[in-house]
Amino acid sequence: MRIAISGGGIGGLTTALMLHNAGMDVTVYEAVPEPRPLGVGINVLPHAVREFERLGILEELLPLAVATEELCYVNRHGQFLWREPRGISAGYPVPQLSIHRGNFQMALLDIVRRRLGESAVRTGMKVTGSNTDNRKSAEFQLIDSVTGRTSQDTADVLVGADGLHSALRKQLHPSDGSPRWSGELMWRGTTMAPPFLTGKSMTLIGTRGHKVVAYPLSLPDDQGNVLINWIAVLDKSSRRLPPVESWNRPGKTEDFIDQYSSWSFPWLDVAALMRGANSVHVFPMVDRDALPTWTAGRTTLLGDAAHPMFPVGSNGASQAILDARALTQALLEERDPDIALERYESERLAATAGVVEANRSQGAARILDLAEERAPEGFTEVSEVFAPGEREALATAYQRVAGFAPATLRQ
Ligand SMILES: Cc1cc2nc3c(=O)[nH]c(=O)nc-3n(C[C@H](O)[C@H](O)[C@H](O)COP(=O)(O)OP(=O)(O)OC[C@H]3O[C@@H](n4cnc5c(N)ncnc54)[C@H](O)[C@@H]3O)c2cc1C
Repeated sequence: MRIAISGGGIGGLTTALMLHNAGMDVTVYEAVPEPRPLGVGINVLPHAVREFERLGILEELLPLAVATEELCYVNRHGQFLWREPRGISAGYPVPQLSIHRGNFQMALLDIVRRRLGESAVRTGMKVTGSNTDNRKSAEFQLIDSVTGRTSQDTADVLVGADGLHSALRKQLHPSDGSPRWSGELMWRGTTMAPPFLTGKSMTLIGTRGHKVVAYPLSLPDDQGNVLINWIAVLDKSSRRLPPVESWNRPGKTEDFIDQYSSWSFPWLDVAALMRGANSVHVFPMVDRDALPTWTAGRTTLLGDAAHPMFPVGSNGASQAILDARALTQALLEERDPDIALERYESERLAATAGVVEANRSQGAARILDLAEERAPEGFTEVSEVFAPGEREALATAYQRVAGFAPATLRQ
């Protein structure tokens, strides 16, 4: 079976590796002529990491990542609200990975080229549309990003893994419109700084509209410093949605730093961390409503093209990887590709819509806002703020929605 994938991001490249392992003939079309390691840190949850172990490439990815040991929720006074173990420390068979998105994508690209052959990835080729009414094949249109020359190609199935601004999603659902903005802006950066807490801790500090997320992306260098990924989130709903959503727009530290000037805790100096970054990028927090369907003819959607979500619970890349697994399994087990695509969609559409919804209400990060509502000036004992079992219940409810409850993975 010949499969074409539009988009060589984490979702598209993982799909290519899995389908190739399943004996299929795969070509990836990537719009960018020379992919570069763009973005900052992302986290990949154990249920998705397990897929790289199955592919036999986890050992190659581990040196690029930090195996996250714990997740901490902290109020704006620096008081700990909840600490939960993560990855191996939480009893999963594989780690949770904190990894630079761009390095991760480049590593996957390299592995795809080695395993599938250089010609399996056609860079500088943008997929602009497909004939969604043909049940026997997908005929799709391409434009060369450099020369502007147009062409056409055919596959048994076309997978639209072309991200937030997916051309194929737009074709399938012309009335879908622009991404939906939460009202928050995110400034992202990385800074070399001393490690904090366990050295492998991920922290969420503050509240929904005034928050910092920080975690390391490397182990200590010769000076004892690690590369720390941080994201400053501020409510800017009084402004208009920035006109162009780009993952790579430069931002200015002076636009947000005054909101964090007093956030200096004995274990982490947040303001110093932000000031120490070489560069900062700004992005609006956006997602899209769930679609009624992902498939038309032999064209289907995957990853951010299908279900972009707020980057709240480390699920953007993780859910794309789970899509890849479900699609591969369905194409392998069902003889008829049309039935396979129906099965894939029925397994993944509602499941990912649940994660999009959970992220809109902040998932387990609700702990932060509850603490602010109940104890805005802080507390002596955290037990004054939360009922017994309340924080754990919030954390496990989100794990169940996103499919990474420890018991599920040990099966
Ligand atoms: C440049 C970039 C930087 C990012 N940085 C971060 C980050 O710092 N933190 C974070 O949490 N998430 C980030 N993301 C999003 C994150 O990578 C995704 O949420 C997640 O990995 C799911 O990936 P995906 O493969 O579905 O989509 P994406 O990672 O968006 O990949 C889509 C790919 O499709 C390509 N493409 C787009 N249109 C076409 C087309 N018409 N034809 C062919 N190819 C096309 C794009 O160039 C891209 O390589 C970033 C995405 C991008 C593209």
